[in-house]
Amino acid sequence: MKTAPLHAAAAAHDTDARPWPQLPSVDKLLQSPALAPLRARYGHQACTQALRETLDGLRDQLRAGMVLAPDATDFECLAQAAEQRLTKRFAPRLQAVFNLTGTVLHTNLGRALLPQEAVDAVIEAMLSPANLEYDLATGGRGDRDDLVEALVCELTGAEAATVVNNNAAAVLLTLGTLAEGREVIVSRGELVEIGGAFRIPDIMARAGARLIEVGTTNRTHARDYTEAVSDATGLLMKVHCSNYAVTGFTKSVSDHEVADIAHGRGLPMVVDLGSGTLVDMRQWGLPYEVTVRETIAAGADIVTFSGDKLLGGPQAGLIVGRKDLIARIKKNPLKRAMRVGKLTLAALEPVLRLYLHPEQLAQRLTTLRLFTRPAADMQAQAQALAPALQAALGPAYVVESAAMASQIGSGALPVESLPSHGLRIHPATGRQAGRQLLQLEAALRALPRPVIGRIQADALWLDLRCLETEQQPLFAEQLPLLASHLHS
Ligand SMILES: *Cc1c(COP(=O)(O)O)cnc(C)c1O
Repeated sequence: MKTAPLHAAAAAHDTDARPWPQLPSVDKLLQSPALAPLRARYGHQACTQALRETLDGLRDQLRAGMVLAPDATDFECLAQAAEQRLTKRFAPRLQAVFNLTGTVLHTNLGRALLPQEAVDAVIEAMLSPANLEYDLATGGRGDRDDLVEALVCELTGAEAATVVNNNAAAVLLTLGTLAEGREVIVSRGELVEIGGAFRIPDIMARAGARLIEVGTTNRTHARDYTEAVSDATGLLMKVHCSNYAVTGFTKSVSDHEVADIAHGRGLPMVVDLGSGTLVDMRQWGLPYEVTVRETIAAGADIVTFSGDKLLGGPQAGLIVGRKDLIARIKKNPLKRAMRVGKLTLAALEPVLRLYLHPEQLAQRLTTLRLFTRPAADMQAQAQALAPALQAALGPAYVVESAAMASQIGSGALPVESLPSHGLRIHPATGRQAGRQLLQLEAALRALPRPVIGRIQADALWLDLRCLETEQQPLFAEQLPLLASHLHS
C-alpha cells in the first residue's frame, strides 16, 4: 500500500543532481479514474481544492530541497493524499467522546446528558414549526417563557420564572435589572470564580452594580450585612460556594437571616444557587444540596441556577422568584439578547416534566441515573473490560480493576465524592513512566470515539460510572486499535 506521498527526510546534498519531477495538472487529475470515487463522494469543488493543496504542498517540499518518494506523483498516490485532506475537512469537529474522567457533569465535555424524552422533543422542534411564541388558544402572539413557566413554578414554589441562555446570563440580567447604579452586598466568603471566566466581582461591574463586600473570607455575621445597608443599596445577594468549601473556623449567615435583613429595609434578596437542584438528593443516598424550593421558602426573592448542572437538562439559566421582579427582568432589553432558542426550550420542558414523577426520576433522568449507579455495576464492567484492555496495551502497561471516587462536577458538591470503580493503568516499569502515561492518554484520545480519562498518582484512571451498559460494546470494540496508536 502506498502511504505518504513524500519521504520526509530531506537530502539537500543531492537535490541539485535530480530534476524536479513533473507534477500533473489539477484538471488532469480530476478527470482521472483514480479521482472518480472522491468526486462522487465530496463533489467537484472540494476535490479541486484538495488536489490544489496537495500539489502546492509537493511544490513547497521541492522548493525546500526535499526529495519526493518515487511514486509521489502517481495519480493514485495523489488521490490518497487528497483523500486525507478531504476526510479531515469533512469530519465533524464536535465529536462524541467517552467521559471516563470520573466527573459526571464535566463542563469541558458538555455537562448534562439528556434523557430520550428531550432528544425526541428536540428532533421534533428541529424538523417542524412550533408554537414557540404563538398562543394556540387565541391565535395571538405568545411568550416563549410560557412553555415552561408553570412547570418551573410548580417545581420550585416560585411565583414566576424566565429562562435565559445560561446561569451567568441569569445573574448578569438579574443584577443589571435590579441593581444597576446601586450597591449589592455580598459576603467575602462567596466571591466565587467559576471556570475562570465567571467571577462575581466582574459580573457585578458589567451589570453596572457596585459590589460591597462584607465579612471576611471565613466568617461573615448578620451585623456585617446590617451595617453595610444604606440608601444606595439595591439588593442583598448570596452566592452558592459551588466549587469550593470554606471549612474550619467559619460563620456564614443563613438565607433566611439575610432575607429578613433585606426585607426589613424593603430590599430584595437574590441567591445565585449555581447548580440548583429541584429535589432533595438524599432520597437516593446522595449528599445534601439545598433545593431551589428551600431557597425560595427561606425568603429569597430571586433565585438563579443552571439548566445543565444538577437539573440534568440543556444549557440554560433559570431565574425564578417574585412576580413583580421577574416582570422587570423580562422587560430589560438585554433579556432579548440572552433568550434561549426553541431547541433549548424543547429539551428543557420534558426534563422538567420528569420531576413530576419523582419515583422514576433516578431511572429516567440521565444525570441522576449516573449519580446513583451502584459501584458494583462499574466493578463488574471493570472486571469484564480489564483483560481486553490489557491485551490491547501489551506488557508495557499493567491494567487493574480498581475502586475510585467520582465527582458530581460543575461545581456541585465539590468535596463530596461518589464511590465508583474502573480501570487503573500504570506503566509496567518505572522508567519513563510519566512519558508512557501521556502516550497512553494520547492514544485513548486518538480512538474513533475518543476516551477521556484522568492521570493521577502515576496512573491513568478510567472511571466507568459514565460508561452505561449499552455503550460498553462500542467502547470494547475499539480497544484493539490502541496497539497501533501506541506504537505508531
Ligand atoms: C455554574 C455557576 C454559574 C455559571 O453558570 P453557567 O450556567 O455555567 O453560566 C454561576 N454561579 C454559580 C454559583 C455557579 O455554580
